[in-house]
Amino acid sequence: MSNMISFNGTIASDTDLHMSNLGTNVFINVLVLSGSALAQTESEKRLVVYLAEKDQAKIGRGYVGFDIVEMPWDRKTFEQDKKFMIKVIDGARNKIGWEKLDYSPSKTFVLHWMNLFETLVNKITIDKIQDNSLNDWLSESEASDPIYCNFPRCKIHGVFLTCFGCQICNN
Ligand SMILES: [Zn+2]
Repeated sequence: MSNMISFNGTIASDTDLHMSNLGTNVFINVLVLSGSALAQTESEKRLVVYLAEKDQAKIGRGYVGFDIVEMPWDRKTFEQDKKFMIKVIDGARNKIGWEKLDYSPSKTFVLHWMNLFETLVNKITIDKIQDNSLNDWLSESEASDPIYCNFPRCKIHGVFLTCFGCQICNN
């Protein structure tokens, strides 16, 4: 079982990122640590929460793949948010927050995944964002969800919580 992150799942591409279930947990762990340390604006925090929702302990192993075009990009702040996501990828390469993990991720694997993920993120342009991806995502969230409650953080890991809790604690 594995998860796939692609640019647009309906179009097969050799840049698709395939990871084992265990690998996916590590991938999300390190992105969420970096993103939670770097996010400042609401749209940046939302993107980190979206990644943290890829929580296999809650959604199911092998069921958390996603497409870059369906991320909740905000067209109003798109260029800034895309730069932010590249910074988050760089932060993961630089091991931001890894001291909070109770294991040591493989630097080799993380670098490989981050290079592929960066290639995918770099491909997104404002006209490629899936229609209504942001509004659909926002309307699926309950009023009591963290994105509407000032983005609370895990007391242990310092990362943004999702409607499932802390992605790192859960996995
Ligand atoms: Zn935690």
